[in-house]
Amino acid sequence: MAKKVTKIGVLTSGGDAPGMNAAVRAVVRTGIYYGLEVYGIMRGYTGMVENDIIPMHSRSVANIIQRGGTILKTARCKEFLQKEGRQKAYNNLKDLGIDGLVIIGGDGSFRGADVFSREFDIPCIGIPGTIDKDIAGTDFTIGFDTAVNTAVESIDKIRDTADAHDRLFIIEVMGRDAGYIALHSGIATGAEHILIPERKTDMEELISSLQEKERRKKLVNMVVVAEGDEFGGGDQVAALVKERLPNVDTRLCILGHIQRGGSPTCLDRLIASRMGYSAVECLLEGRHNVMVGILNNRMQYTLLEKAVKSKQKISDEWMKIVKILAS
Ligand code: ADP
Repeated sequence: MAKKVTKIGVLTSGGDAPGMNAAVRAVVRTGIYYGLEVYGIMRGYTGMVENDIIPMHSRSVANIIQRGGTILKTARCKEFLQKEGRQKAYNNLKDLGIDGLVIIGGDGSFRGADVFSREFDIPCIGIPGTIDKDIAGTDFTIGFDTAVNTAVESIDKIRDTADAHDRLFIIEVMGRDAGYIALHSGIATGAEHILIPERKTDMEELISSLQEKERRKKLVNMVVVAEGDEFGGGDQVAALVKERLPNVDTRLCILGHIQRGGSPTCLDRLIASRMGYSAVECLLEGRHNVMVGILNNRMQYTLLEKAVKSKQKISDEWMKIVKILAS
């Protein structure tokens, strides 16, 4: 029989993602609904190590569902990588009587949670919060939809100027070593080519295809590049293209951190609310070391250890669609 949780802590860790606030709100309010005491841990694992932990009430999370970023702040914490740091964190939680944790973050944060809950008797539930969508066991990660919509809006604007000047634009989007933002935003904006880390790119083929489009006077040429692609991101790709096609007016645009900010989309708010609620239910049911995810519209619980080991796959059909639609 699992111990009954009475006091839970919630934290946001690693890279921030729009919709994290909606998840925090859902955890706090669901916890309170079930009679739990809820604590907010500031700046990810740093707050656990440094004892920066505050009681949360229903009103603490008022007016945040629509806000990007995270009211709990987020950080990367070197001390938590060491056993001594994790021991300090555990002592702080123990002193407050916290007996369950909800971690909203990416695969690094889940790795930390997995190690921590193996060492100490505190169940950890992960909520996938990352714009990169690089976690297996869920169709959605909080923040991806907002980030990709921001990218689409920006690339649409670039298309207007590319069209006006007959320019070739190389556009770099975020995603670390995952190509989802590039794939989705590239297809949704009609990019000619999409370069992602999950697929090898034939540079010769890319150059001759761009030459061919130039010869056919295709109105707009846009290449969307994931920051983690094999060539090293947009600036490297732009340099290669400029070298090979010196007569083509080629411009580079790196979208950067605008993709992390902004008000979360309806989808991100919905999945954050559903996952936050489910994470508390998991703790009450005595689950531990799992990530809550949504697969085929149903809640899915994946061991943290498994969630960090595999990534969502990109099907070959998507790559075929890109090629056919850009012709
Ligand atoms: P994300 O969660 O966005 O992938 P990071 O990879 O930076 O972000 O991880 C966030 C934090 O999780 C790290 O700063 C560290 O404190 C903790 N962490 C990551 N990997 C481990 C690990 N193997 N052991 C312990 N803690 C870890």
